[in-house]
Amino acid sequence: MTADQSVASQLAIYVCPACKGRLRQEEGMLLCPSCSQTYPIREGIPDFVREELSHSKDPELRRMTAIDRMARIYETKLWYPIVLNIYGGFRSPSLAQLISIVSRKVQSAQGRVLDVACGPGTYGRRVASPSKEVFGIDVSMGMLRQGAAYTAKEGIANVHFARARVEALPFEKDFFDATLCCGSLHLFTDTVMALREIARVMKPEAILAVFTFTAGRGGILKYRRVREWSRREHGLHVFELPEMEQSLAASGFKDFQPEVSGSILTFSARRQSS
Ligand SMILES: [Zn+2]
Repeated sequence: MTADQSVASQLAIYVCPACKGRLRQEEGMLLCPSCSQTYPIREGIPDFVREELSHSKDPELRRMTAIDRMARIYETKLWYPIVLNIYGGFRSPSLAQLISIVSRKVQSAQGRVLDVACGPGTYGRRVASPSKEVFGIDVSMGMLRQGAAYTAKEGIANVHFARARVEALPFEKDFFDATLCCGSLHLFTDTVMALREIARVMKPEAILAVFTFTAGRGGILKYRRVREWSRREHGLHVFELPEMEQSLAASGFKDFQPEVSGSILTFSARRQSS
């Protein structure tokens, strides 16, 4: 296969996020013959959002504008450890520990792995292997470009990036053998709606591995007023464990297995068999 053919076959796995129909590849874009939507491909990354974050009417997308600019420092000690310690407490796991905790949860899965709100592929890049093909989606083009640059530099194959929203995933149903959702579930406007769309694209019994926050005993999130302020000002949803379990059950998941460290919650769950 030539490089062009390989890109073309990678793009063939995506479906229209609006109508879930098959897409046609044209020069520099994907086209949906059913609903006539077009999706540009920029630097090899298909864009299913087609909207500038800073101009969006959606407050969730507008909040991501700052994230877009942070792509370069996201994985450095200037960002991730600070957030973990402030929000999660000083006994929070480090980024390396979190990556290993999350990777363990999907270790036995083989095949296709979805990385929801993947950033620069922080988790997905480390999970990808000859037996695990990772598909990362994020709303931030800055993060996706950084992810593509990292995978090129690190020589990691088997990771693909697309710009998409969790509420409208560009994949057909029952497609993934595992899903990662790390550091983002607390930012989605409607948790159950997001989880339902994730469940749709997962195979029955496929495993979901998540890192998010809970009202635990460490960091500033142990204070109710801080949690209320974070929700109001930053749209940060800090989950109680029973609430998380209910949201999972309501969206097609079972076998909730939580681990709490400070205010850091990691968990796995399985897609219900339909
Ligand atoms: Zn369509």
